[in-house]
Amino acid sequence: TMQRKKMVIGNWKMFKSASQASSEFSDFAKLIATKKLNIDVGIAAPSVFLADLARRTQNSVTLFAQNAHWANEGAFTGEISTGMLQSILVNGSLVAHSERRQMFGETDESAGKRVGALVRSGMKAVLCIGETLAERESGMLKQVLTRQIEKAIEASGIRSANEFIGSNPSSPLLSLAYEPVWAIGTGKAASPVEAQDAHAFIREVLSASFNKETSSLLQILYGGSVKLNNVKDYMACPDVDGALVGGASLIAKDFSDLCEKCD
Ligand code: PEP
Repeated sequence: TMQRKKMVIGNWKMFKSASQASSEFSDFAKLIATKKLNIDVGIAAPSVFLADLARRTQNSVTLFAQNAHWANEGAFTGEISTGMLQSILVNGSLVAHSERRQMFGETDESAGKRVGALVRSGMKAVLCIGETLAERESGMLKQVLTRQIEKAIEASGIRSANEFIGSNPSSPLLSLAYEPVWAIGTGKAASPVEAQDAHAFIREVLSASFNKETSSLLQILYGGSVKLNNVKDYMACPDVDGALVGGASLIAKDFSDLCEKCD
């Protein structure tokens, strides 16, 4: 079987001014271009900066939005469509980050509709899933992950597993980010064993939803307090195919060093 390519994505959340975003992103793209890594590297930036950043990727950094609406256009004040993102050369979007689930009413159903719109546009969708501490402590981890995945796939409206892969099997359109809510921004990272166990389970759910071959191609990223000094431990896990990185992605030099450790 084909070796999955590792993918590391920085999530800038709601940080940086326009000038900070431009200069940090340009520095980062240059550093990554110089390193010639055999991994996919991306940044998910605030939407107001994306058009500017698209001119600075050096073909070395994949550009992601942090959210995308499922309609082509319409009376949806404050929303941005996949077509709009595509028109400024954005490659994909995060979907249903836990902060959006917790604070902005994101559901498994709306998450699935976003995934569907992105994939149908030929764009990358990074579906974020993960349990709260209360859910883990009450033994509901597997139930929560299964629900989050199955409901999103159902709501995407896409019925063909191949459509989630797209035209390049080494860089499928759909990827998942396992981000235990208790590990995001807390400094309390999941252990590599906890991450591997969850990822192996996620791959089983994907296998049941699609098929074994599709499941073996999809990249599953770990997210939650990933830093320069722990990232290698996750990359050594057979079902961890990369990382979604918040705090440690904000400074170009530091994040490029972290990416290098994933190669
Ligand atoms: C995230 O924003 O998805 C994240 C994992 O944040 P942090 O790395 O800061 O925990």
